[in-house]
Amino acid sequence: MREFEVIRRIRQENPSLGDRVEVPPGDDLGEVRLAESGGVVLAGVDQVIAGVHLADSAAPERFAWKVAARSLSDVAAMAACPAGMVVAAALSPDIETEWANRFASELQRIGSMFECPLIGGDIAVLPAVGDSMVFSSTVLATPDPEAGHRLVLRSEARPGDLVCVSGEFGASLDSDGGGHHQEFMPRIDVARSLHRSLGNCLTSMIDVSDGLSSELSHLSRESKVRIVIEGERIPRRHDSKLEQALCDGEDYELCFTVSATAELPACIAEVPLTVIGRVEHGEGVFLDSSGDQAPLEASGWEHQTRPAARDSSDSEGGFR
Ligand SMILES: [Mg+2]
Repeated sequence: MREFEVIRRIRQENPSLGDRVEVPPGDDLGEVRLAESGGVVLAGVDQVIAGVHLADSAAPERFAWKVAARSLSDVAAMAACPAGMVVAAALSPDIETEWANRFASELQRIGSMFECPLIGGDIAVLPAVGDSMVFSSTVLATPDPEAGHRLVLRSEARPGDLVCVSGEFGASLDSDGGGHHQEFMPRIDVARSLHRSLGNCLTSMIDVSDGLSSELSHLSRESKVRIVIEGERIPRRHDSKLEQALCDGEDYELCFTVSATAELPACIAEVPLTVIGRVEHGEGVFLDSSGDQAPLEASGWEHQTRPAARDSSDSEGGFR
């Protein structure tokens, strides 16, 4: 199974979804117009699998944070306002009630922190000890009334725009399994503040989960533009190499485009904002090194079924 092939097939059916679907599959969240009220709601879902995205032994608070924060990062990517979340957990039969209580308490704490209350969910028990636990969060959101109810999509970058990022990239996973990938802060405040101050000059946005090179290729393809990145401008976490910054993923930062005339602040809420490239006519993503441009492959993380990955001798290691 190759994730992007499945997604491509789903998106081929988008035109048949009907006119109540305002944002079809293909962006960070989908949006549907409610028949009765005429209002709209955005929704998206994310999963965390023990042994894949976090160590099996991780604390319940870590699982709660990661599954909720991944969904909230998608809300940030649209510059939307979280409305509520529902969470499902398939737990190992040896998990204690105390563990599940701590998981739920952390979700409630995160809910109040981001004004995204936990409004429902489901707990199931897996058949056997050793089966991978699976956590799923569905987030609901609404467009920001203080930004004219506009959403920031992946598809509206324009030639002449600047390509920008929040925060730093690379080395999101420490050698002991911890690190940024389990502690990141969804950039909801940064996204909404940018959107409210820049308005239409904030032209497109995506959050970086699979890897910066991969997300840039999504922006390029959806907006039908060419993107040129200057590698040395990309802020790197710790002492990570350029390739790590481009490909590691799990940065959960924002990658966005702004009009060249926009006044981009140096930082918002102590999160630095950096111009890393530009948008041109054409297609594809290119890396500019001292004037030499080379195509940048989208080599971030793609979820695939690989029988070997279940083998403990699999050399890829790490958690996603
Ligand atoms: Mg996303």
